[in-house]
Parts: sequence; C-alpha cells; structure tokens
Amino acid sequence: MSDSDMIVARAEDLTRHYRVKPGPFQSAVPLKALDGVSFELKAGKTLAVVGESGCGKSTLGRLLTLIEPATAGQLELAGKTVETTDPRKIRPFRKNVQMVFQDPYGSLNPRKQVSAILAEPLKINTKLSTSKIQQAVIAMLEKVGLRAQHARRYPHMFSGGQRQRIAIARALMLKPALVVADEPVSALDISIQAQVLNLLMDLQDELHTAYVFISHGLGVVEHIADDVLVMYLGKAVEQGSKQAIFDHPLHPYTRALLASTPFVDPDRRRQRIVLQGELPSPLRPPSGCAFHQRCPQAMPHCAQQQPSLIPVQGRQVACFLYEPD
Ligand code: SF4
Repeated sequence: MSDSDMIVARAEDLTRHYRVKPGPFQSAVPLKALDGVSFELKAGKTLAVVGESGCGKSTLGRLLTLIEPATAGQLELAGKTVETTDPRKIRPFRKNVQMVFQDPYGSLNPRKQVSAILAEPLKINTKLSTSKIQQAVIAMLEKVGLRAQHARRYPHMFSGGQRQRIAIARALMLKPALVVADEPVSALDISIQAQVLNLLMDLQDELHTAYVFISHGLGVVEHIADDVLVMYLGKAVEQGSKQAIFDHPLHPYTRALLASTPFVDPDRRRQRIVLQGELPSPLRPPSGCAFHQRCPQAMPHCAQQQPSLIPVQGRQVACFLYEPD
C-alpha cells in the first residue's frame, strides 16, 4: 500500500450525546451534539466539515483530537481502534493528532517564548537532546515562513497571521498524521487568510499530513478540501468529493450554504436562497428531517420521517427528494 492510500482516520457512526438541563428545576434531556457521523480520510488529504455553529462540527473536532470521548461509534486512527473509555489507552494516539484553534491570540501561552512553545511537544514526547530540539524548532519556524530570530520573541510581538503560523508550527512539531484545524483562518483579515491557507496546503504537500478542516462556510474550503461533509444538527446531510458538492450540490441545505457564499468565479455564483429562521435548538430538534422547518422544498412527510444518508450521484445525501443510485 502506498503512503497516499493509507487511511489516517476512519469514523463509523461516531456519536457524542450529553444530558443537559434546559433550565432550572427541569429534568435533564439528551443533547445529540454528534449523531452518527462516518467518514474515511487518507494521508495527505483534507476533509472539510461545514455547517452553522451548533451543527456538531466542533464536537467532531474534539472527538478526533481525543479531547473528549465518543459515547457510541468507532474511531480508528492510523489503522488502530481508539479505546476512548480508557485514558491510558488514549495517550499513544495523542501525538499523532494535533489541533489548530480558531483564535491565534488565545491558543499560545503569552508568557513563553516561541522557542519554548515549539519545543514543548518534543520535550514531552521524545528523548531528543536540547540541541536537536532547538534545531527542530528553527527548521519548523522556517517551514512556516518565519525566521530563526523569531524564536526568542513572545506571542504578543507577532501579528495575527504570524501567530497562526506559530500555532501551525506547534501542531506539526511531532509530525502528526492528522491535524484538525477548527476555523483556523476565520479570525484573520481576508488578505491574510489566503496566505495561511496556502501555507497549510504547501505543508500538506511536503509532510503528507491529513487535515480535518472545520468551517462555518464553504467559501474558505473551496481550495483546500478534497472531500466535504456538510452537517446539520449533529448529522451529516451531504458528503462527498469537493467537486461533486461544489459543482452540483443536492441537499437543499448545501445549496443554501453555497448560495450564501460569495464567489469571484461567475460559474460558481448561484441564485440566492435565503434560509428561513434560525438553526433549531439541539435540545428540541424538529421531528422528521431536522431541516424541514427551513427547507424551501419540504414536503408533508418530511416533518414525520427522518431521511437516511443514501448514495446519490457519487455522494451521500440525506433527503427525500432523491432515490438511491
Ligand atoms: Fe427538505 Fe424534505 Fe429534503 Fe429535508 S427531506 S431537506 S425537508 S426536501
């Protein structure tokens, strides 16, 4: 099997339910933050996970980075099943999965020099000598477009884009197989966003890291994604190759997301579809198709029955408008 065929992450019916009290003196009710999501991700590829806030994409990110355990389903990383219930069994997986957070200001320790921030993962997880660690720090700084002299500076001495470069460098220090990037450019100026996205793509070409790229919009992921998973209230509603989903979106929610995305390319511009209403509360999910109250094509039975993901035109869609291939 070549390196590019290696499956870095496989999720099967990955689920995270909580029990929460909707208000004082009320009994706890289930909150299905993530409700049975499945995918496969190969080395060097990017899966974009897209949806409005509250759709479950950040919960998926926390499960993949082992910050919290799944309540059901299975997660495999680099071919091995993660036993999420036993913290001692999780530890060996941790260095293989790293995260880049949205906020480059909050995610770096302000009291540490950049050299210490980047050295930390190597100090904890390897037996490398101090001089080898320092060499690795300088090499990584240069890989992310910074210079050796930046190593002695503190995070507040950098711009937002530079801080995100440092956060990316830190995530890559242990050469993880998978990086989960949770809205990594949404806090940056538009002009800087493209630079950071290009950096992520260049590093992926060089290091063959797989990315799960979490985003609330489709515009940002157009260039970076290989596959796209569109989520709504904890479930995948459409997933498949970027080309299938951008060229010919099928689910009415994907269409609405794409229609609200500003594209420069005139072929990508679509008739505007205005989504009615807000994302419903996951504490009181609608019956039937969770999207039916906002769907411009809803049919009477959509309020009663829940559509399953079915294969349609080379991707998976959960919508009664389609018959399986
Ligand atoms: Fe709309 Fe019905 Fe399809 Fe849901 S199942 S997206 S309500 S048409």
